[in-house]
Amino acid sequence: RARGIRPVILESALAGVRPIKRVIELDRRQPEFTLVFWDYLSNSVNDQRVWRGRKLLAEHRPLLKRVARKYGVQPRFLVAFWGLESNYGDFTGKFSVIGALVTLAFDPRRAKFFREQLLAALSLINDGHMSVGVKGSWAGAMGNHQFIPTTYRDFAVDFDGDGRRDLWNSLPDIFASAANYLSRSGWDDRYTWGREIRLPPGFNPEVSALDIRKPLSEWQQLGVRRFDGRDLPTVDLNGSVILPAGFNGPAFLVYKNYRTVLVWNRSIFFAIAVGHLADRINGGGPLLAVRPDNEVTLSRADVANIQRRLMKRGFDPGAADGTAGPMTRKAIKAFQKSVHLPADGFPSSELLERLRD
Ligand code: CA
Repeated sequence: RARGIRPVILESALAGVRPIKRVIELDRRQPEFTLVFWDYLSNSVNDQRVWRGRKLLAEHRPLLKRVARKYGVQPRFLVAFWGLESNYGDFTGKFSVIGALVTLAFDPRRAKFFREQLLAALSLINDGHMSVGVKGSWAGAMGNHQFIPTTYRDFAVDFDGDGRRDLWNSLPDIFASAANYLSRSGWDDRYTWGREIRLPPGFNPEVSALDIRKPLSEWQQLGVRRFDGRDLPTVDLNGSVILPAGFNGPAFLVYKNYRTVLVWNRSIFFAIAVGHLADRINGGGPLLAVRPDNEVTLSRADVANIQRRLMKRGFDPGAADGTAGPMTRKAIKAFQKSVHLPADGFPSSELLERLRD
């Protein structure tokens, strides 16, 4: 009530609400195996999604161009986010948003965060942008771009002028809201997201990290080229080399728009998938790097084993939780350096073998 939400809204939204057991189960779920880049990419950027994206880009081009002019985000990216977030509106979630948010605000694990999300959702209902019975993901993400309530509240816009910010049924609102969010997170439509590259023989993978940024001219001097061998573009732009599948996988040079995608979703795989899907929607082909046929999927137990063995050797990978986050990757790099291996920071079966020696 202190936030100006009318009692009648509170009553209709909260009367009889109970915790949803399934939401807690989904919140606690941990995958048994680590996600393999190639599997993620082939699932998220498949031919069907590319083909449909091309069709939708053509169909909605006039609207997408108007949105692009106002907010400065290229249409191919708006379609790519749409494709990844909800398969172009097919999957916007089946949970009661209020029920899910009440459950997660009640559960102690991330209560503070979800309490704020619940209040934001109630404000949106209070202001008439959505209804009490609104459906979304188990974590309360909503609409064609799966915005959490605070993102919806702060960045969604009414582009068709009917007074409501509708992220389910109004394509003008849907595209413009995504574009506004990206633009205010730092998107720059003079540039693309990044590109697949070819590394020179003897390239030191230690410089592959998101926090190492160099001008393209410097990467060019280090021998980095486009995948087909041509020079890098001669633009005044910083980039980082990233190796999402380790030294033997594909290599990318990513620009500042890639970092903006990480504001939207902090998964580095998601951010590559968005860029790659946008390129393919624009007529581009599949990645040129070849998937190795002997790739071994590590279980969480394997990753935890790597972490424990790193600790025993005096490196600090953080908790042995089976998740290879930034600390673990840094510790792996330090170990690899100490034994003169290519320091890509990537947890692999070869690395585990080496740590067992
Ligand atoms: Ca509207």
